[in-house]
Amino acid sequence: MGQLYAITPFTLLDYPGEMACIAWFAGCNLRCAYCHNPDIVLGRGEKDESAFLDFLRRRRGMLTAAVFSGGEATFCPSLPILMRHAKGMGYKTKLDTNGTRPTVIMRLLKEGLLDYVALDYKCPASRSKELLGTTKYCEMFNSSLTQLISCAQQGLGLEVRTTYHPDLMTEDDLAVIIHDLDARGFKGNYYIQNIASHGDKTLGRISEPSSQQAPDNLPKPKNFTLSFRNFATTN
Ligand code: SF4
Repeated sequence: MGQLYAITPFTLLDYPGEMACIAWFAGCNLRCAYCHNPDIVLGRGEKDESAFLDFLRRRRGMLTAAVFSGGEATFCPSLPILMRHAKGMGYKTKLDTNGTRPTVIMRLLKEGLLDYVALDYKCPASRSKELLGTTKYCEMFNSSLTQLISCAQQGLGLEVRTTYHPDLMTEDDLAVIIHDLDARGFKGNYYIQNIASHGDKTLGRISEPSSQQAPDNLPKPKNFTLSFRNFATTN
């Protein structure tokens, strides 16, 4: 788990305002039913990390940021080394994470290796057993969220996101998350995103949502921005 699986050479979508590449790392400690990267989660990463660093050297001046994603990139033992190299070459760094490895995240933050973090807020703790099959990650996720909100107050870019499928989550679940983020003093962007895929392309062969409409009966956040991604319509 945690080996380099693939590189996306260019994206304008994954790091706000930056021209980025993405390094994908194999393996994950969760098995979200809607996960649309089963090959990465279940596969083996066999790509040479030095090839990624060579790629970054060649794209200096053309790209501005490197995104570390997966799977769960924090399982990559050499993640700090790769990020150190990327920052040394002048790239901004972004980590996509499920937040279940707060010790690794803290180490990266303390060393100043992270410019931006996209954190998955999977579900309220009360739904964790049912949706994630375990409650053991709640404490870890809470620790990551607390640390990241604190660092965001000192300049770290932070977005929080929840993938919503009406068969799995209710609008009440989303309301609990919104209230929790407000109570914690979160001030960044919170995204509720539609599933990116369904059927055989997902880990849990999840069904197509009965509606493509964004949830429309949510409380208004007091301190942060709520946006919707990948829905056909929003109210
Ligand atoms: S959605 Fe993210 S956290 Fe869930 S299984 Fe896929 S890679 Fe892991």
